[in-house]
Amino acid sequence: MRLIGRHITSSGGISAVMEYAAKMGSNTAQIFMGNPRSWNAQMPNWDNAMFESLKGKYGISELFVHMPYLPNLASSEGRIIELTKVSVRTQIKKCNDIGIENLVVHLGSTKGRPKSEGIANAVAILKEYVPLFNGRILIENEAGQNNNIGASFEDLAEIRDSVDADNLFFCIDTCHAFAYGYDIRNLDIIEEIDAKLGMKNVKALHCNDALFGLGSKKDRHANIGFGEIGRDALKAFIWADKTNSIPVILETPSSPLISESEEIALIK
Ligand SMILES: [Zn+2]
Repeated sequence: MRLIGRHITSSGGISAVMEYAAKMGSNTAQIFMGNPRSWNAQMPNWDNAMFESLKGKYGISELFVHMPYLPNLASSEGRIIELTKVSVRTQIKKCNDIGIENLVVHLGSTKGRPKSEGIANAVAILKEYVPLFNGRILIENEAGQNNNIGASFEDLAEIRDSVDADNLFFCIDTCHAFAYGYDIRNLDIIEEIDAKLGMKNVKALHCNDALFGLGSKKDRHANIGFGEIGRDALKAFIWADKTNSIPVILETPSSPLISESEEIALIK
C-alpha cells in the first residue's frame, strides 16, 4: 500500500508518534530527531526493538526523519562545516540504531558564494557520510530562496551523480518546486523530473500547497486546496502513472481550514 502521512511532532516520544500517525489514518510519518533548532539536541532514547514493535502495533510501515534546520552542507565556513558534520553523523547514527528507513536532507545555502562552491561543499560531506547510513538519504529540492542550492533539477542531478552512492535519492517538495518556478499544475513537469532525475530515484513527495505564486522563491506551505497550486493540480501530480507509488508526506500548517486527518483523507 502507498505510504501516506505527514510531518508530526516527536516531542511526545516514539510511541506517541506512531499512535498519532495511525489515529489520523496514515501508515507513515516524518519527524525531527531532537530539537531541530539546536546544534547539540538531545537524541531520544528510542531503540530498534521499540520501533519494530510499535510499527506492528500501529500499522506504520516506515518513518522519514528530516534533518534539523541549522546544518548547512553548502557552507564554506570551517566552524559551520564542522558543526554540520557532527549533526549529520549524529542523525545518521541514531537513525541506524533505531532502524529508521529514510533521512531527508536540505543542502543549505552558499551565503552568497559561488553556486559551484556550495555544490562542491555539499558533495564532499555527502560522499563522506551517505555510505554510513543503512537506509536511504533523500536530498530535497529547495524553493530557491536565500542562495540555497538544490532548487533546480539540474543541481540535484549533478549532486547525486557526483556523490555516486547507491542509497542517495531525491525528495520532491511540490511547494518548493512551484515557488522556484516549476509549474506543477502542468503534468509535463512529471516528464521533466523523469528525464532529469529519474522518477525511480524519487523516494518521497512532500505534498504541500504554496502560499505564494509560481516563481515567488518563497518557502511558505499552504494547506492542500488553500494555496496557489490548488487541490486538482496536486491530485493530478501525486496520482499520475509515474508518481502514484511514491510515498507522500504532508508538511502543511495546523489550520482551522482543514483538520490533519481530513487532509490525509483528501490525499488518499
Ligand atoms: Zn519539504
